Amino acid sequence: MNTTCIMCPMGCSLTVEEEGKEIVVKGNGCPRGEKYGRAEYSHPERVVTTLLKKEKGGVVSVKTDRPIPKDKIADLLLWAAAFRVQGQYKTGDVLAVNPVDCGANILATADEEE
Ligand code: SF4
Repeated sequence: MNTTCIMCPMGCSLTVEEEGKEIVVKGNGCPRGEKYGRAEYSHPERVVTTLLKKEKGGVVSVKTDRPIPKDKIADLLLWAAAFRVQGQYKTGDVLAVNPVDCGANILATADEEE
């Protein structure tokens, strides 16, 4: 597998392969790249940003409070399409707790506009 390390602006090009029972990362400029490459190969995760609709109209920009497995992203986006935010909120408020059972909560990333 080829990928790019996103842990710093250097953007090292990584090659990740299984050699026997080991996962071997090549092309990394530092140990963080090796850790990133192994994670991308065995259990890739992403922080997800999206929009939720408000009950009274308009949308709220949100993100997960931690990376979630890539195979859970579609579930999260389906949940987001059906969910409606009610009440007041401000940046950093938790708008939903663990909606797709992977331990990530949904945070508002902007204050409510008047
Ligand atoms: S491997 Fe190290 S130097 Fe290269 S992009 Fe990743 S963090 Fe930066």
